[in-house]
Amino acid sequence: MDIEKSRSRINELKKIIDNANYAYYTLDKPEIADSIYDSLYRELITLENNFPELRTKDSPTNRLGGEIAKGFSKVIHTIPLYSLDNAFNINELKDWISKLKKLINLENHESIEKLFLVAELKIDGNAISLRYEKGILTKAATRGDGKEGEDITNNVKRIKSIPLKLRIKNPPEWLEIRGEAYIPIKNFQELNKDRAIKREQLFANPRNACAGSLRQLDPKIVADRKLDFFAYQVYFPEQIEMKTIYNNHWDRLKFLKECGFKISKNSQLIMNETDLKEYCEFWEKERVNINYETDGIVIKVNNIRTQNLLGFTQKSPRWAIALKFPAEEIATKIKDLGFQVGRSGAITPVANFEPVQLAGTIVSRATLHNADRFEELNIHTNDTVIVKKAGEIIPEVVKVITELRSKEAKKIPFPEVCPSCGNPLEKNTSEAATKCININCDSIQLALIKHWASKTALNIDGLGTKLVEQLFDQGFIKNVADLYILSDKDLTSMERMGDKTIKKLFIAIEDSKNRSWNHKLFALGINMIGQVTAQNICNEYENISTLMSTIINKPEDLSKINGIGIEIIESLKKWFSNEKNIDLINNLNSRGFYFFNTKSRDEKDNKIKNPNISKKQFVITGVMSDFTRDQLINLIENCGGIIKNALSKKIDYLVVGEKPGSKLDKAKQIGTKIIYETDIQDLLNFNNYE
Ligand code: NAD
Repeated sequence: MDIEKSRSRINELKKIIDNANYAYYTLDKPEIADSIYDSLYRELITLENNFPELRTKDSPTNRLGGEIAKGFSKVIHTIPLYSLDNAFNINELKDWISKLKKLINLENHESIEKLFLVAELKIDGNAISLRYEKGILTKAATRGDGKEGEDITNNVKRIKSIPLKLRIKNPPEWLEIRGEAYIPIKNFQELNKDRAIKREQLFANPRNACAGSLRQLDPKIVADRKLDFFAYQVYFPEQIEMKTIYNNHWDRLKFLKECGFKISKNSQLIMNETDLKEYCEFWEKERVNINYETDGIVIKVNNIRTQNLLGFTQKSPRWAIALKFPAEEIATKIKDLGFQVGRSGAITPVANFEPVQLAGTIVSRATLHNADRFEELNIHTNDTVIVKKAGEIIPEVVKVITELRSKEAKKIPFPEVCPSCGNPLEKNTSEAATKCININCDSIQLALIKHWASKTALNIDGLGTKLVEQLFDQGFIKNVADLYILSDKDLTSMERMGDKTIKKLFIAIEDSKNRSWNHKLFALGINMIGQVTAQNICNEYENISTLMSTIINKPEDLSKINGIGIEIIESLKKWFSNEKNIDLINNLNSRGFYFFNTKSRDEKDNKIKNPNISKKQFVITGVMSDFTRDQLINLIENCGGIIKNALSKKIDYLVVGEKPGSKLDKAKQIGTKIIYETDIQDLLNFNNYE
């Protein structure tokens, strides 16, 4: 980006970050998610680093915290309260360690054993500073802008875990203690429930509820809201013995405990990089199981002398860093938009954007779902957008930050004709999708072949998407039936196809004829016929001829099958009334591919009879953490279990993942046995039965 463009982007970023700071620190009502704030803030830092001449004194990157609220007197911090630098992934953390080693003259290959660290959870509350004189609490202050905070002594005295008098003998002249005031999650939920009843505005999160409570003029409110406090740092007066006894952070934490403070049980002395990695990985998952919010891990140099040697930057200590937990929502800039044609002909707009780290992976493209969503988002060229990813769900663009739109930006239109074959697109009022209905469209056929070969359909080993694309581009395959007349010569002309690979591929293609009938039906890619529906249909009809004759003569019979309604029947009717599809089935038959259970590879080789699962009926709801849904379906089916779409009294188990749908409530009502991911793993565990 040139200097002029950077200048205008910097100005816009400054404006939006200033507004966010005001809403967050002063009003305690954040308007954007923290991860989005973090990504915009990072962009501003990068631009200011690229063009230092554009960095101004009023830039939010030079400021920390918010303004002093009315009604409180100011406290000048004798020892400033700093923020923390952030790392957003383990590699950035490693870079920080390498930098530390350089700064303290450790050779890079020397392990951090020479540099013990302490890892602590980053409690998502509010930093406060407590001053004790001769062991008595005399002053408590918010962080404010790090140099000046608000006097909140009266409020803090209402936090029960903060001792008014230290529990040690002969306390020094003064002690300054830092820590995090927070509202435990349970108390926060009760607080918001109570506010909902009273029709008061809800707090966005425990951190803002805590900040709002600390700045109440009536201290009783603090007591009512049951604030809590973890201490994590202590300063001693110069030249006192304690300073030498407690010469490392770990011992100082123990000292804080002796003084009567609550310290986090979850801190750990880190001896090497494996410890650190394990700690981070453990808490990234486990954080949901504790009664306070954390947004990351703080890693601190243990030795206080080394800390002093490293010192501070303008805003943060060099001896500590916060590793933020992976964001599930982040801001990034659009590069361009593409329009993909799926196997059903549906056009999916896709946004390509600057790569960002999201929920642990780097993403650079996300779906915009369909034409309606596309219009709603109203994306312009170079827009800054918010991308979200929850659990294993694919990333999606959820919002455009219109405040960051440039004046030259132009709206990107939705195409009127298929970007692949040029046929006019159709929009059916009952469907969200805009579709290309030309069955000969190259993109549709290509997507169908990829689906046919995919793991969930016929699982043709060695026929990956790249090879399918090459074969298609060279004109060797035009539809799935052509796979069965591929010749040696066709394949030899492809990249990286040696004799052995070709032989294996032929075996895999031939073997696909032995897949079970339900996989074959699913592989046809008929609109609305997913894995479970295909399985349910195939349980009732033993081959494609009986299915087809029912569709033509007595389609209403299909509605007796679990999960099949009018829309699915219409979709089947439409598919089977298209001559081209019938030609395809005939072609496949003539090439030895039949739509019924031949010598089923699945039944013969893969199905392991597990009495815990065999013949039991399962319904799945929510997102699993250890399996994708397809993997779970395959696992259950391979053990003889039956997957169903809808709950009924006949269903044996409802498998519940994260964010379950309404099925969970229904299961409770009708008394279906509810099991979780770990239970299903127990059921699948063959050691559990003989
Ligand atoms: P920070 O929250 O990233 O980190 C510094 C703070 O961590 C310290 O002040 C301390 O209070 C806290 N902390 C918790 N546990 C700790 C421990 N064990 N040891 C040491 N410190 C610990 O920095 P910040 O300056 O307080 O706030 C910046 C962050 O606030 C941003 O990264 C952003 O996520 C959020 N923010 C959000 C918005 C918004 O609009 N959503 C606006 C402004 C700031």
